[in-house]
Amino acid sequence: MRFAASPDDVLARLATLREHDAPTHGGHVLSYVYDSGEPELDELAAAAIRAMQPVNGLDPTTFGSVAALERDLVAFTRELLGGEVDGADGGEPVVGTVTSGGTESCLLAVKAARDAWLAAHGAVPGTARPRLVAPVTVHAAFQKAAHYFGLELDLVPVRPGGAVAADAVAERLADRPDDVALVVVSAPSYPHAALDPVAEVAAVAAAHGVPVHVDACIGGMALPFWPDLPDWDLRVPGVTSLSVDLHKYGYAPKGVSVLLHRGRERQRGQYFATTRWPGYPVVNPTLLGSRSGGPLAAAWAITSALGTDGLGDLAERARRATDELRAAVGRIEGLRVVGEPVGPLFAVAEDDAVPAARRVDPHVWADAVATRGWVLQAQPAHRQADGTVLPHTTHLTVTPVTARVLDELVPALVAAADEVRGVPRPGSSPLLGGLAGLSTLDSDTAADLLRTMGLDASRIGDDGPGVGPMAPLLAAVEALPAPVAERLLTELLGRLVEPR
Ligand SMILES: *Cc1c(COP(=O)(O)O)cnc(C)c1O
Repeated sequence: MRFAASPDDVLARLATLREHDAPTHGGHVLSYVYDSGEPELDELAAAAIRAMQPVNGLDPTTFGSVAALERDLVAFTRELLGGEVDGADGGEPVVGTVTSGGTESCLLAVKAARDAWLAAHGAVPGTARPRLVAPVTVHAAFQKAAHYFGLELDLVPVRPGGAVAADAVAERLADRPDDVALVVVSAPSYPHAALDPVAEVAAVAAAHGVPVHVDACIGGMALPFWPDLPDWDLRVPGVTSLSVDLHKYGYAPKGVSVLLHRGRERQRGQYFATTRWPGYPVVNPTLLGSRSGGPLAAAWAITSALGTDGLGDLAERARRATDELRAAVGRIEGLRVVGEPVGPLFAVAEDDAVPAARRVDPHVWADAVATRGWVLQAQPAHRQADGTVLPHTTHLTVTPVTARVLDELVPALVAAADEVRGVPRPGSSPLLGGLAGLSTLDSDTAADLLRTMGLDASRIGDDGPGVGPMAPLLAAVEALPAPVAERLLTELLGRLVEPR
């Protein structure tokens, strides 16, 4: 960093840095970014951010614009997701909050449910650990929530297609329904795009008086336009909260999600308020204090411009592209699409119905696809508590812009598969085998190990995006005990931002 640089130099430096990033537009990155393919929407969002840039969302009584925009987004998402003003379930109104993203929405859903459980059981945090029951495919944000808020995470194995069986959740509840603070299901799940049986799970949970959160972070703005789905949103009795990200299929820049709750009382548990300090009275509906009005304004502007019809058109484009892409990948010998994905995303695994020499390893394939300029996301295999293994997969998130690049993308996917058909995934190196007994690593040992794995944090990003081939890294992640792998990756990210 050079100080006292001219504005032109500052902006030029930013432009240079951005050149090395993965492209955020044009459909070459099939995760992380959600490109509507409509540049005017990005321009509108930028103008809205600029208009709200100096506003502090901390206090909507001082900055009334924040409250007005938030009301509109809650009204819009509530209507789209079946939450009536008076509520179908016992007449409770659906109320909501704009948060900074899916993770924050999920954290707050859990925090509110935990506090309701503690109050109902006359317990205080730390003395009791209520359970959070969810399929093993539930987003990692719920693992984070259980960790932060002191809940016991009770993960239920899913079926091979990635959806949980309602019976399996019912069993967990039948055991000890009293200690369950929240059941979570996904619409759909991130790893495999599986739509969990929301209505069946909600019916069982409601019978035990247990609240149910639907994590529609990725699906919430797209599934309302998907044909032939069973009810999965706030129309379902027994669903008590729902999260939906506007910075995914709402096409807003990052930093906006909505958490809806059925019932004011239930939602108020999400807030933190204190008058017990010498400063201003603090009332925070979300985790942060001061926050920018920018992302809220951008999401509001895009949602206002699109309306339900515009969103529906974009969802339809994403749906057609998803159908075509899925069919094309399904025709590649040696690969298979996992389960019956719902929404604009899916996962691909090795097809073990063909002989080993004809199979395509999904991670080796993703690396071969990357050399052709397309970024797919590798996901590790996962051994469930019942001993079954969910295979390692490659994830594809499809956006409206994908429709325009299918002519280039599909041939690249096919050519990459032809190149690596029969090539096994790399084994984890013998070095990693020696680590199997380790349960902890210190910072320097972790950094040494990363270097021997070819991952030198001080070099990452210099030659373009990514840390290099994903297949060996994911193989190592699978082979190592989870705490060791987690520590290694933490070290990688920690060293990445240490001044060089
Ligand atoms: C993206 C996602 C989240 C977390 O959202 P962030 O915006 O990345 O914090 C949670 N659940 C699901 C299903 C998601 O796809």
